[in-house]
Amino acid sequence: MKVINCDIKTTKVCQCGNWLSHWENISKNKVRLCVVKECCEHELVGSHVKKAGSDEKEIYIIPLCKEHSESEEEMDIYNDVPLVSANVKKTCRANSSTTLKDGER
Ligand SMILES: [Zn+2]
Ligand SMILES: [Zn+2]
Repeated sequence: MKVINCDIKTTKVCQCGNWLSHWENISKNKVRLCVVKECCEHELVGSHVKKAGSDEKEIYIIPLCKEHSESEEEMDIYNDVPLVSANVKKTCRANSSTTLKDGER
């Protein structure tokens, strides 16, 4: 599966604390290594990506090493890696009863 980084420099994070935890919470998965094929880096961050070569506008979170999270090239990731939506209203905030203000993202 090919993905490409979205140019999102967001400092806002959801209630999971950081985007890597968000990915772990929603996917119920844990990885030790960057999910790009043949990458063996284990210092991971949750990175915003889109599917490459697709019209889909959906933005996903996947665990990548720092280097890949800053890459501007297409990345080939393992096909069994769950793509977790970056849209917190569909994921971690969907069933939460926290009192966050409307419009807060
Ligand atoms: Zn979250
Ligand atoms: Zn990597």
